Amino acid sequence: MKILVGVKRVLDYNVKARVKADKSGIELANVKMAMNPFDEIAVEEALRIKEAGNAEEVIAVSIGPAKSEETIRTALAMGADRGILIQTDELLEPLAVAKLLKHIVEKEQPGLVVLGKQAIDDDCNQTGQMLSALTGMPQATFASKVELDGDSIKVTREVDSGLESIRVKSPAVITADLRLNEPRYAKLPNIMKAKKKPLEVIEVADTGVDVSSGLSVVEVNEPEQRQAGVIVGSVAELVDKLRNEAKVI
Ligand code: AMP
Repeated sequence: MKILVGVKRVLDYNVKARVKADKSGIELANVKMAMNPFDEIAVEEALRIKEAGNAEEVIAVSIGPAKSEETIRTALAMGADRGILIQTDELLEPLAVAKLLKHIVEKEQPGLVVLGKQAIDDDCNQTGQMLSALTGMPQATFASKVELDGDSIKVTREVDSGLESIRVKSPAVITADLRLNEPRYAKLPNIMKAKKKPLEVIEVADTGVDVSSGLSVVEVNEPEQRQAGVIVGSVAELVDKLRNEAKVI
């Protein structure tokens, strides 16, 4: 079976996000970009499934500008076999991304699609669910453990009340949560080898998929600055401040 993994190029999680002067979005020019952290976990899981002999090929797919090739190369350096870039300079919403992934699913017929639970730039947490709805594949979201048994996949999910175990039948969509695994680092020889692995580039226009958007960003603002705190000298002083200044008791 083939495994398709979604890898999105996002602002590196170590970089402090700055809002553009015109409030239209986040400043992305000349800042460090990286693979979405949950997608690293998704790639790692796909590789482990392949290494356990349960898959033949891992395909990394990214949708975004030409520079997303770097993100795909990172996945290839980790061990993915080939990459597909659906190229666009437009900022696409999750529904458009899900439609494009469906296009690739129809072409590649993977037994499993592994995505991150959410992209850290838009925090949407929608793409996996939408892909499942569009394709009719079952979904197992927020996965913290994946066990394959033929075409039956047992997925342990992180839910508010604890852990839930479900079974889905391949082909299925799984979204990776933080505790699923610890992704490997790409080793230098593998980074070199990754440069020679196949990477197909497709233009969005050539997919025939309608990616027009139903939403527009009105404004992006920095979070409000927190007020500096004070250190109180005693419990009595704390109670006094809560009662007379904050007026919460
Ligand atoms: P989201 O619904 O935007 O929070 O994204 C959830 C997951 O969908 C991500 O962790 C990725 O695995 C996948 N995904 C979203 N956008 C893209 C993209 N542009 N290219 C590749 N994968 C994506």
